[in-house]
Amino acid sequence: MSEPRRIYAREEIDERVREVGREITADGIGAPLVAVCVIKGAVVFFADLVRSINGADVRFAFVAAKSYKADGNRMTSAGEVKLEYVSFSPEEIKGADVLLVEDIVDTGRTIAVLKAYCESLGAERVRIAALLDKPDCRVADVAPDYAAFTIKGDPYIVGYGLDNMQKYRNLDGIFVI
Ligand code: 5GP
Repeated sequence: MSEPRRIYAREEIDERVREVGREITADGIGAPLVAVCVIKGAVVFFADLVRSINGADVRFAFVAAKSYKADGNRMTSAGEVKLEYVSFSPEEIKGADVLLVEDIVDTGRTIAVLKAYCESLGAERVRIAALLDKPDCRVADVAPDYAAFTIKGDPYIVGYGLDNMQKYRNLDGIFVI
C-alpha cells in the first residue's frame, strides 16, 4: 500500500475546528451541553473541538458504534450499526442539549442511529458535528449540522484520529491512502 498523502495540515485543521466551535457556540449552548464523542475515530477532533466551545456546563460522554467490518486492506460498510459501548445513563441525556461528535459521516447510518437513540432518551436537541462529511456516500437521511471539511467522492481517510486497521490514528494531519 502506498504512503498516506496529506490533504489537510494541522494548521488548517486547527483553524477550521476553532471556527466550528464558534458556530456551535453561536447557535446556543444548553445547560448542560452533553458532548458525545464517538470513539475511537473522533477522539482527537473531540479534544480540540470541546476546547473551542464556549459554555459554562459542557459535559463529556462517549459511545462506540460498529458499522464497518474488515474487507481486505480497507474497511467497508456492513450496513448494520450496533452500539457497543455507552458511557452515559439515560438521565444524563434526558432534557440535555446533545452534540454528537463524529469523525466522518459517510453513509450516515452510524450517526442516524446515535441521533435516534439520544432522541429516544428525551434529549432536548441533538446536533451533529463531524470532522469530515462525505455527502456522495450518504445512504441514511441525515446530514451533519457542522462539518470541518467536506470530501468529494469516497477516498479513504486516515490521521487525526482516523485509522486503517488501527494504524495511522496518530498522524498529525488528515491524509488519504
Ligand atoms: P457511516 O455509518 O456514516 O457509513 O460510517 C461512519 C464510520 O465509518 C466513521 O465513523 C468511520 O469510523 C468509518 N469511515 C467511513 N469512511 C471512512 C474513511 O474514509 N476513513 C476511515 N478511517 N474511516 C471511515
